[in-house]
Amino acid sequence: MQPNRRRWLLNQLLALGAVVLATGLRLALEGLLGPRQPYATYYVAVLFAALYLGLGPALTTAVLGLTIGHYLFIFPYKMWFIADPADLVVILTYIFVAGASIILGESSRRLLRRLETEADIRRELERAERRQRERLEATLKSLGEGVIVTGSDGRVAMLNPIAEELTGWTSAEAVGRPLAKVFHTRDRRTTQTEELPVAEILGQGLVHRSAGPALLIRRDGTERPIEASSSAIRDGGSGGLVVVVRDVSERLRIEEAENASRKRLRLALEAGRLGAWDWDLRTGRVAWSESSASLFSVPALAGESTFARFLELVHPEDVSVLDTAIAQSIEHGHPFEAEFRLRRPDGSFFWMASRGAILPDEEGRPVRLLGIGADVTERRRAEQTSRFLAEAGAALASLTDEDEALRRVARLAVPFFADWAAVDLIDPSGTIRRVAMAHDDPAKARLALKWHRRHPPCPDSPRGISAVIRTGQPELVAEIDDQMLEQAVGDPVMRRFLRDLNLRSFICVPLRDRAQRVIGALTFVSAESGRRFGPDDLAVAEDLAHRAAVALENSRLYGELREADQRKTEFLAILAHELRNPLAPIRTALELLRPTKVAPPADGQPIDREAIRAMACRQVTHMARLIDDLMDITRISRGTIELRPEPVELVPLIRRVVSAAGPQVAEAGLELRVGLPEQPLWLHADPARIEQILWNLLTNATKYSDPGGRIELVVAPDDLGVALRVRDTGIGIEPAMLPRIFELFEQAENGASRKRGGLGIGLSLVRTLVELHGGSISARSDGPGRGSEFVVTLPVMEAPPHAASRPKAQKPEATISPSTRRRILLVDDNRDAATSLGTLLGKLGGHQVRLAHDGPEAIRIASEFAPEVVLLDIGLPGMDGFEVARRLRAASSAHQATLIALTGWGQEEDRRRSREAGFDYHLVKPVDTELVEELIGSSPPPRRPGPH
Ligand code: ADP
Repeated sequence: MQPNRRRWLLNQLLALGAVVLATGLRLALEGLLGPRQPYATYYVAVLFAALYLGLGPALTTAVLGLTIGHYLFIFPYKMWFIADPADLVVILTYIFVAGASIILGESSRRLLRRLETEADIRRELERAERRQRERLEATLKSLGEGVIVTGSDGRVAMLNPIAEELTGWTSAEAVGRPLAKVFHTRDRRTTQTEELPVAEILGQGLVHRSAGPALLIRRDGTERPIEASSSAIRDGGSGGLVVVVRDVSERLRIEEAENASRKRLRLALEAGRLGAWDWDLRTGRVAWSESSASLFSVPALAGESTFARFLELVHPEDVSVLDTAIAQSIEHGHPFEAEFRLRRPDGSFFWMASRGAILPDEEGRPVRLLGIGADVTERRRAEQTSRFLAEAGAALASLTDEDEALRRVARLAVPFFADWAAVDLIDPSGTIRRVAMAHDDPAKARLALKWHRRHPPCPDSPRGISAVIRTGQPELVAEIDDQMLEQAVGDPVMRRFLRDLNLRSFICVPLRDRAQRVIGALTFVSAESGRRFGPDDLAVAEDLAHRAAVALENSRLYGELREADQRKTEFLAILAHELRNPLAPIRTALELLRPTKVAPPADGQPIDREAIRAMACRQVTHMARLIDDLMDITRISRGTIELRPEPVELVPLIRRVVSAAGPQVAEAGLELRVGLPEQPLWLHADPARIEQILWNLLTNATKYSDPGGRIELVVAPDDLGVALRVRDTGIGIEPAMLPRIFELFEQAENGASRKRGGLGIGLSLVRTLVELHGGSISARSDGPGRGSEFVVTLPVMEAPPHAASRPKAQKPEATISPSTRRRILLVDDNRDAATSLGTLLGKLGGHQVRLAHDGPEAIRIASEFAPEVVLLDIGLPGMDGFEVARRLRAASSAHQATLIALTGWGQEEDRRRSREAGFDYHLVKPVDTELVEELIGSSPPPRRPGPH
């Protein structure tokens, strides 16, 4: 049932109820009222129905009340006629009153209803407004942003909780305060206070947004980064301002963290010289990190591009490497790794090493490949360089054939290091010889070599190979131009040829030996590769040149060493021969001197013992000289030879040598002519060495001349001092041999064909001794059979002040008294030497001689024998002569004795040591027995160091 209908029915029922109630009440009042007022209660019922139940029920009530009142309460009861006309008035009154009540009720109800509707509306509006306010508040509260609302006067009207938290003001405290008091900001960068233009915003209804984050100064003075926007409230009413404040601390923190991490990444990429890339496999787009283009000098790597365009940059030979690496990554999810060459705009290539990884989507499908790339050209070049240097080193290490090894080195250099490589060496004659010429195409190399031979470089070119060899300075030409070509290559035809080869860059480095002498040059030229050499390449070339030069020199030294070794072997054979030679006559002499064995001479002439002795003595002297020369050579090679210079008058010295050499010259059937200057000539020289020089030259002249020849010795002052010329009419010297005869072991004749003996050391020794004296020596010969001339030039000195009074004797001064008999202790581990000398001294000198063969024995004998003279060999087994001398000096029995050292060592150092050990004299074996006797005769010596 419809609610209205139900209401209607209910009102009708209520009307009925009201009638029933009115009827009941009238019945109840019947006793009191009787027939009067039949409608008394019905008036009330009708009024009630009219007022409260509406028109319909009121009519129902009125009609029912009329009917029932008439029927029940108008006399005659329960009858429908009107007995009394007054009753009709009653009825009409009822009808009138009921009608009036109904009209009144209806109009009042209408009025009431209208009043009720208005109240409802007002209530409703109030409710709506309240709801809206609540919703707004809830909205403001639930907002993630702070909201401050002001009135039109700019004073705070409300703060939401976020604004409260941000500003530090509670809404209650803030309300009524000027906005600037509660919302107070300053610029983040300049730290200047910012004022919100409240009046303007309000006046013009603007919306104001802060330019960027600002710092909100909170109530407690702390600061908070915020962003705010303000706008006027346009509600047609009083208006106001709403400020929306957003806390951006977290956002800024994240932004800063992101910025920092981006910056770190950028720095890391830049520091690692890395470019990062991101390839979207679905779209084919590739994005490179910002700095990639400048880092690799490839503008195409700037920002976004496509993989297809990237592939255009890859060296055609490396595309397959890249493809394989990508396929492996995409198919198997392997990390991506590849090295390939990329082209720069100028056409040159650099090596990129790239690594990356696949980024899959949620379903595991590869969607992106991300990675980094680095320029590894230097590393690759360094690897190649060290491989090249190692291989070149190996080629040089196994160097047996110089030229072949250098050719291999040149071949190794192309095309990795250069397009052309050449090696030039300086030959002993001083000419530059091209040993190797390499190019990837051997035919081209051969052609270039032919051209080079036909048009060799001019030795005085200011640039190029000749200049490098001449100056020893390396040359690097990064970019060959016409001017350079013109300076380096004088020949225009050759220049045209080289121009056609398109030469681009050039390096030439000298090859130097250990003494830093230039022995050749290595040349590298780039052409078709377009390579531009730089300082690093020059360093590689110099390294290679150094290795090559060392290897060359080692190989040459090895060769020389082998040759020297061979010469040494030959020399030992010659030495044995030369030492054996004098032994034969000596042995014969000894046999001849044995009285029992020699039969009386057939011719009746007695054997000339003196002649035999003299011959044996000559042989011994010859042998001693050989050995002396040999020892001097050893000293020269060790650098220990030394002079004992003193003022020496040359002419007497020459006379002495001439008279000593006279017999051997005469014996060789030669004539000796001597031309000496009149005036005295003084040298500051070691007299023994000058004698040695002269003796050697005279001996050679004798040796290399045939009987009947002539030897001339001419001494004359010249510009440089004095010149000593030894000229002979002998076998002469081949021109080729002339420059070499002063070299050690150099002999014109050698091997089995040698007829004239000699060790090949004499002239070498002579030259060293002459040079040690500040002089020079030269040899001249007009050729074989035409004699030779040796000229020694020596510096002279002023005559010393007391030149005339100087003693000339080379032997130690001594007061000779041969008749004096001495107690002599002779110590030598060589028993023969000891016995023979002992016998000589005992027999000839009449001295009392005791022998000892080692140190302890010598000391023992000395203690009982108290020798006046001790002849002591230094090289004794166990305790050496120095030690024995020291002990003898310390012992009472021999401390006054004359101690004479007998030794094979005659250097100044040996003399110093013997002096320090307490020796008085130092004699070198074989000793001159006459000298020994003189020394013995002079004992006891003065207690000062004797001549050493
Ligand atoms: P050697 O012991 O062989 O004589 P030297 O060093 O004295 O050694 O001489 C070297 C070489 O020089 C000799 O072997 C000889 O060939 C040559 N020579 C030296 N002096 C003369 C000379 N007066 N006439 C010809 N040749 C000489």
